[in-house]
Amino acid sequence: MSDELLRVDGLHVSYGRVRAVRDVSFTAPRGELISLVGANGAGKSSVLGAVSGLVRPKSGTVHYDGANITRWPAHRRVAAGMVLVPEGRQILTTLTVAENLLLGGWRRRRAAATIAEMYELFPVLAQRRDLSAGTLSGGEQQMLAIARAMVAQPRVLLMDEPSMGLSPKLVDEVFRVIETIRATGVTIVLVEQNARRALRAADTGYVLETGVVSHSGPAPRLLADRRVVDAYLGG
Ligand code: ATP
Repeated sequence: MSDELLRVDGLHVSYGRVRAVRDVSFTAPRGELISLVGANGAGKSSVLGAVSGLVRPKSGTVHYDGANITRWPAHRRVAAGMVLVPEGRQILTTLTVAENLLLGGWRRRRAAATIAEMYELFPVLAQRRDLSAGTLSGGEQQMLAIARAMVAQPRVLLMDEPSMGLSPKLVDEVFRVIETIRATGVTIVLVEQNARRALRAADTGYVLETGVVSHSGPAPRLLADRRVVDAYLGG
């Protein structure tokens, strides 16, 4: 069994003439947290789209648990344990909190048990389980999006900007939850504009700049690299 749960090689994504991702490669070892950071428009969401099967890459390959899944449809990837927490949460605001969580557990045998675990991890969701999800605050909706993904029992969790639009206190809470999930053994690919926070949480980091990986390596090394700090972490 290889150490790598996920491996992306030579990924290119284009939208018409826009070359959003160019020759991006990275690996996610089992149980580790890797982070892709970079400015708005750097191509981070496009990489996650190609990994989760929502975007068809122009070229390159995605391997998951030793299998070439580049051409697998998105639903097959979810069934195999690759679950996305999408940018902007995308929860169903007219359904209740409980119904949103049930959707995450669609076709999962242990759904009820996992939902109970999520109510323990997120007491605020338990308190509001019968309210429509649209009444939750932005931070609570983000927690719901993460909890819904966890109910799908991921082996690898793909997170697209979970801290976006949240107050500093809620950003802290989201990162605490990410640490907790990671401690359960789930492999995490975290995409963030909040590069400093993401790299502090990560084992390995990849800096994306206009579609290309400009720097990569152990996250502590990137955090100490003057070029990375000056260009991406605000000095
Ligand atoms: P953000 O933080 O804004 O999501 P990002 O780093 O995730 O940024 P992408 O969303 O992957 O970056 O976008 C990379 C590039 O591809 C940008 O130039 C963007 O305008 C372009 N792009 C993304 N999606 C599409 C699309 N569906 N059609 C055309 N261009 C797109």
